[in-house]
Amino acid sequence: KAKKRGRNNFQWYTNDLNQQVSERVTLRNELQKAIECGGFEIYFQPQVDANGQNLVGMEALLRWHHSELGFISPASVISIAEDTGQIFSLNRWVMETACRYIKSLYDQGLVDIPVAVNISPLQFQRDHFVDLVRQVLERTQLEAKFLELELTETILLDNAERAVQTLHELKNLGVRLAIDDFGTGFSSLGYLKRLPIDKIKIDRTFIKEIIRDQHDAAITQGIISMVHHLGLQVVAEGVETEPQFAFLRKSQCDAYQGYYFSKPLPLEKLRDYLQQHQETPSVKLPRRDGDE
Ligand code: C2E
Ligand code: MG
Ligand code: MG
Ligand code: MG
Repeated sequence: KAKKRGRNNFQWYTNDLNQQVSERVTLRNELQKAIECGGFEIYFQPQVDANGQNLVGMEALLRWHHSELGFISPASVISIAEDTGQIFSLNRWVMETACRYIKSLYDQGLVDIPVAVNISPLQFQRDHFVDLVRQVLERTQLEAKFLELELTETILLDNAERAVQTLHELKNLGVRLAIDDFGTGFSSLGYLKRLPIDKIKIDRTFIKEIIRDQHDAAITQGIISMVHHLGLQVVAEGVETEPQFAFLRKSQCDAYQGYYFSKPLPLEKLRDYLQQHQETPSVKLPRRDGDE
């Protein structure tokens, strides 16, 4: 009896695995079509300063709404694209498109803040990554200081010396560098003093329980203080509530990103957001439709 159940389990397992494999093959094919025919979008999520209104940055996030499969999370897209090597053309598209959009907003006088683009470690470690960034800046005519690259600590795992070298070359180009998901990696903190970075983004997992969990609160305050002593800026990710914002503000965090301020927005909505948040006085009066 046990044997029979065992066999059945095995069958279930293989069916499941087959299904997973065929789903991945489908996604992979669909991904290729989307890369070739332009099936992706980029959304932008604002980052604000301590007054909660002034825009200080924004992050470009990949979005894929497939006509039949529906919304597919960027995490899945990235994971498949990293397996298949499609990540390189995909990330190139994201970087170039984000730069082009921001350049047009900049030319319209709507922004003068950088746009952050997530860089997959695979792409960062690839030869000629610095050339790619230079090319994108040339093609889009965006000033380097308006492009920020978000990298994770994983870039240091394989060949730290080479990664540090690449970071210096990027810095020389004039782009800004941020460490994303800070606190979730496994590398030693010692690297921080050697990297030419501008900004640290505290991972959402710490912010999530900041009000209920004393340890998360302590870790977050510790990170903020350390980052400031290193002369860098610190951004909190995933701020969803007023108490979280208040706590972070009290802890002297420099910038804030999260649903409490805005979800990631498509370009048109971002334009509206920018128009509303332009030259905002520090105390914002309620607006009515038709008010100037
Ligand atoms: P990330 O770089 O840490 O991006 C922040 C993620 O947190 C985004 O998820 C964003 O939508 C989400 N988020 C922002 N505020 C809140 C909040 O208040 N609450 C909650 N629950 N979530 C919030 P998203 O867009 O699903 O992206 C997930 C990850 O996928 C990103 O994490 C990034 O690692 C990767 N990713 C996204 N776009 C790209 C891309 O163009 N290239 C690469 N290489 N990776 C990307
Ligand atoms: Mg990011
Ligand atoms: Mg992050
Ligand atoms: Mg993340």
